[in-house]
Amino acid sequence: MNKLEVCEIFKSIQGESTLAGTLCSFVRLSGCNLSCTYCDTQYAQTESTPMIIDEVVEKIETHSTKIVEITGGEPLLQKPTPILCDIFLQKGYTVLVETNGSCDIAVISPKCKRIVDIKCPSSGMCGSFLESNYDQITSFDELKFVISDKNDFDWAKDLVFSRKLDQLTTVIFSPNLDKISPAQIAEWIVNSSVPVRFGIQLHKIIWGKKRGV
Ligand code: SF4
Repeated sequence: MNKLEVCEIFKSIQGESTLAGTLCSFVRLSGCNLSCTYCDTQYAQTESTPMIIDEVVEKIETHSTKIVEITGGEPLLQKPTPILCDIFLQKGYTVLVETNGSCDIAVISPKCKRIVDIKCPSSGMCGSFLESNYDQITSFDELKFVISDKNDFDWAKDLVFSRKLDQLTTVIFSPNLDKISPAQIAEWIVNSSVPVRFGIQLHKIIWGKKRGV
């Protein structure tokens, strides 16, 4: 019960949330239930080392950071993930959990910042969002759309307006940098006045497609 399948643990600059730019430790857990067309962490599907929770916590504590992000793969597939989050909260960390939106976020303490994806059409996984998660989102959480083309943008924009997602919490539109320019997304946001925050994968701007950053 207290064993996690871990893909990698590293220290880097937070790249994909309202905390982008901050020093952050990452625990990337193995396995995912989706297969997005643009997945940049496919290695998390296959690479896995079993670690007990205490080992993971000890490793993170060597980093001397105040923020820890639990990501994947899909971290909510592993039963001990909520326990790991609670331990980090008790130790005074700001805890971020990056999830693909298809799993019940209620298992994670709302004291964590839950960064929840809503998959757009080009991901091939559109419709995977768990409807009940809309009721769980707090203003401390974040909703994130990865946009690859105009169809994705229009679909996401319509969802933001129709469900008033901006009244739930911060909504981030982030470009799939392999498919569309940041300037194009920015232009569409400005022209449509959709109430979202522009996001960008800051670590990819800094390091390109390097792994473990
Ligand atoms: S949810 Fe994330 S980890 Fe899973 S396939 Fe999609 S992009 Fe990759």
